[in-house]
Amino acid sequence: MNKRLIAALGVGILLLNLTGCSWIRTYFRLDDYTAPASTQAPETAPASTQAAVPRTVPPEATRPSSSEIVSAPQGDPDEPRVVGVTANGYQIVEDHGLTYVNGVLIVNKTYSVPAGYSPGDLTPECAEAFARLRTAAAAEGLNIFLLSGYRSYETQTNLYNRYCAQDGRAAADTYSARPGHSEHQTGLAIDVNSLSHTFAETPEGKWLAENAHRFGFIIRYAYAKESVTGYAYEPWHIRYLGEGWAQAVYESGLCLEEFFGITSVYAD
Ligand SMILES: [Zn+2]
Repeated sequence: MNKRLIAALGVGILLLNLTGCSWIRTYFRLDDYTAPASTQAPETAPASTQAAVPRTVPPEATRPSSSEIVSAPQGDPDEPRVVGVTANGYQIVEDHGLTYVNGVLIVNKTYSVPAGYSPGDLTPECAEAFARLRTAAAAEGLNIFLLSGYRSYETQTNLYNRYCAQDGRAAADTYSARPGHSEHQTGLAIDVNSLSHTFAETPEGKWLAENAHRFGFIIRYAYAKESVTGYAYEPWHIRYLGEGWAQAVYESGLCLEEFFGITSVYAD
């Protein structure tokens, strides 16, 4: 429980004891109180690291208006093309069915990857960064290991169908990606150690939350961001962004969708 919640409860209980008036209960709406999302933000990194931030959100005045958005060229479909701009002013580029926001490959409920997209394994950059992360954790006596890395479209199809049969589609959508919508298909995502929320409370889970960005990863499905990311909290699922972006996202305290100003909602 955070300090604001404790303070709010304390004041509320005191006033109720003093007066016993029901309007106070109504006025303070104690039972509706939820912790503000900002309290979940990670600690801010020291100011000296700010220089590593690759690009901040452009101010309102410099954002392109919709009339300035470059429309897709009529020519070569294999050429990368700008298809729009995010709510925060970042260019959205489509390239061979993949969607990039300022060079970052985006896969969520809104943006998918083609069934045939198959790096076959973790990308070399992701694998190398994860090896360095593991080594750094091991130096502190912690064991972080890979449970699940690259998954093919076919594997994801089998997984998702099994979850749907087990729990129904609506429930499955809260914790499993539909085929083509899994970050695991990109070779840029890794599940570590344990697919359990209790992982967050282990020394490894705490270390990962505090240090993953130093190696280019973020905790992709952050706590209390389900309505934005489209997925329940997954303290074990890390996404490789590269160190610059990972640090910027970590320091912002935002999830990836909020950081770039994009949605994560299935079209149907
Ligand atoms: Zn995962």
